[in-house]
Amino acid sequence: MSRESYIVDSAAFAREGRHLAGSCPVSRLERLAEVVVAESGDVKFDVTGYRDEDQDALFIDIVASGTLMLRCQRCLEAMPWPFEVEGRLLLVPPGQPLPDEELDEEDFDPIEASRTLEVLPLVEEEVLLALPFAPRHEQCEPPRPLAESEKESPFAALKQLRDGKGNET
Ligand SMILES: [Zn+2]
Repeated sequence: MSRESYIVDSAAFAREGRHLAGSCPVSRLERLAEVVVAESGDVKFDVTGYRDEDQDALFIDIVASGTLMLRCQRCLEAMPWPFEVEGRLLLVPPGQPLPDEELDEEDFDPIEASRTLEVLPLVEEEVLLALPFAPRHEQCEPPRPLAESEKESPFAALKQLRDGKGNET
């Protein structure tokens, strides 16, 4: 599989209601690979073109799923984050201004239509948008980097008293 096999003529894809499904290793999605702890697993995706005849508008629907290894913000260990995300993109003909996203209350994002639209970055974008801001295990403990040195040092108990940290847990 190469990125090139997922390039579509976006307007034709939408007008004809075409469909494209596949999967891509997380390690091949550079922006996602940067935010994960381990580049394991695949992102499965399902991309469908759609033409709304009433609005005479062309859309691309994206569904993506998989499991990413994120870093828990509490214990700082890896945690699996299973996801299934959906997004709808409105194709705007080249040369036309994209609708102002600030004013846009619809639940789709406008993108410029292209004869050579790369699907994988769009799939990646949907997953990035859905990433939890501060992922956390349901149950875990924050790391205690002082634990080892406290055991070793006779002064640790004294320090704990002084810092008032003796009874926190
Ligand atoms: Zn954790």
